[in-house]
Amino acid sequence: MSSPPTFDTIIIGAGMSGLAAGIRLAQFDQRVLILEKHYLWGGLNSFFKRAGRRFDVGLHALTNWVPKGTRGTPLSKLLRQLRLGYDDLKLGQQSFSEVRFPGVKLAFSNDFELLRSEIARAFPDQVEGFESLVRRIDAYDAFRPSDTSLSARSQLSQSISDPQLVDMLLCPLLFYGSAREDDVDWYQGVILFKSILQEGFARPAGGIKPLLDLLVARYRDLGGELRMRSGVKEIVHEDGRCLGVRLEDGQELAAQKVLSSAGWAESMRLAGDDMYARHVRPEELGTLSFVESIHVLDREPADLGFGATIQFFNDAPEFRYRRPAGLVDTQSGVLCCPNNYASEEPLREGIIRTTSLANPVAWRELVGDAYEAAKEEVQTSILARAQEHLGFHPRDYSVFSDCFTPRTVERFTGRIDGAVYGASTKRFDGKTPLQNLHLIGTDQGLLGVTGAMLSGVSMANRYCLKPSLR
Ligand SMILES: Cc1cc2nc3c(=O)[nH]c(=O)nc-3n(C[C@H](O)[C@H](O)[C@H](O)COP(=O)(O)OP(=O)(O)OC[C@H]3O[C@@H](n4cnc5c(N)ncnc54)[C@H](O)[C@@H]3O)c2cc1C
Repeated sequence: MSSPPTFDTIIIGAGMSGLAAGIRLAQFDQRVLILEKHYLWGGLNSFFKRAGRRFDVGLHALTNWVPKGTRGTPLSKLLRQLRLGYDDLKLGQQSFSEVRFPGVKLAFSNDFELLRSEIARAFPDQVEGFESLVRRIDAYDAFRPSDTSLSARSQLSQSISDPQLVDMLLCPLLFYGSAREDDVDWYQGVILFKSILQEGFARPAGGIKPLLDLLVARYRDLGGELRMRSGVKEIVHEDGRCLGVRLEDGQELAAQKVLSSAGWAESMRLAGDDMYARHVRPEELGTLSFVESIHVLDREPADLGFGATIQFFNDAPEFRYRRPAGLVDTQSGVLCCPNNYASEEPLREGIIRTTSLANPVAWRELVGDAYEAAKEEVQTSILARAQEHLGFHPRDYSVFSDCFTPRTVERFTGRIDGAVYGASTKRFDGKTPLQNLHLIGTDQGLLGVTGAMLSGVSMANRYCLKPSLR
């Protein structure tokens, strides 16, 4: 590279992990640059405007809710590391959420005792097994896993003998964070169990934008530089060391370290065809993506009898969390109602969001009008299924709706095939074949809003700060 400006750290991507890593490093006076190829920050957790309304892209729930003052949990550690106040997030708690399978349902909330009592009601012979699972989970340090190859399904089955309960416990964990079909790595399963079932769900007042605004303002106040519409075209390297990046407009920027939230395969692609061919195994490319639809209603879902915040449902005899053969799998999914959070700033309109597993390859093959027609058709079948669980048909009350597919996710985040949860194998140590290029976010192994931010902070601490500052 020809004597371009030098940064201590360049961060690829202004999603949750990139922004958190940037804040952490800027706190220690590093010269940090975040490069984002889009005009909006947030990545998978951004926001968009349609018909005068602002929508969250990804946010159903901020996981890991704990009461103010709780110490030693992921959320409190994250806030401490980013020097943010608990009250800055203006969190409103969920009402309750549910897992519904044929003939049985389990409610849970931010009070773990509710789930305990639900297990005792619906699976009385599994109470002991469930408690033994909880003890094992409590004792497991998932952030320092000794073995990252264990399967959560088999670990759950060691404590719980009823396969339906195993599936019901896995269902929310897989939908909210597994890149593997029908399973999740044990250490990730433990993180998800704690963050979803033991801690719980909350929503920042106003959705994701106020939180993103806070992160971006904090980063800039600390002197961090953020360049939007600045896509990285190439990660430049020599003799196993990363020298910096080349942007889509040809500009070269040098850095001591590069942190990439673009994804494992995506980062190797940026490092060149040779790196991609040598290091990316086809079987580790993410296979799972989703179709998400958002329906604005002329009244609150609670007024129509839907009081849950999030409902995970499965109507099939066997729960499948896999890439479907067709465009979507309507047999299972997630229904989310952001109105059903406590909030200082209640939403002005009713909203229902639906999430269904989708097949990116099938969506990719659609061209022109066929794509729009497929979106319409798929929404009709998703809503027909959702109606049974909501108790009403969203179209009967709809004032606006929108829908996005794996193609949308790929276009706005660069994730190959719109794989929302990234590669099926995570790189928990963040290492890549280039000694000073490290992964942050989804493909490092921590995802979701809280997880991705924790990933950014922990990788920044580990690789970009002196040990005395971590
Ligand atoms: C529909 C949906 C619902 C979700 N619901 C929830 C939820 O309720 N709760 C929750 O906690 N999580 C949820 N998530 C997941 C959560 O959004 C992600 O796990 C998290 O935001 C990932 O953050 P990240 O920083 O790892 O990656 P990303 O958000 O993907 O950020 C990567 C960034 O890098 C940029 N980038 C990529 N390549 C380049 C390049 N070459 N040059 C420059 N920039 C580049 C991308 O544009 C992007 O902004 C949801 C996601 C989706 C899609």
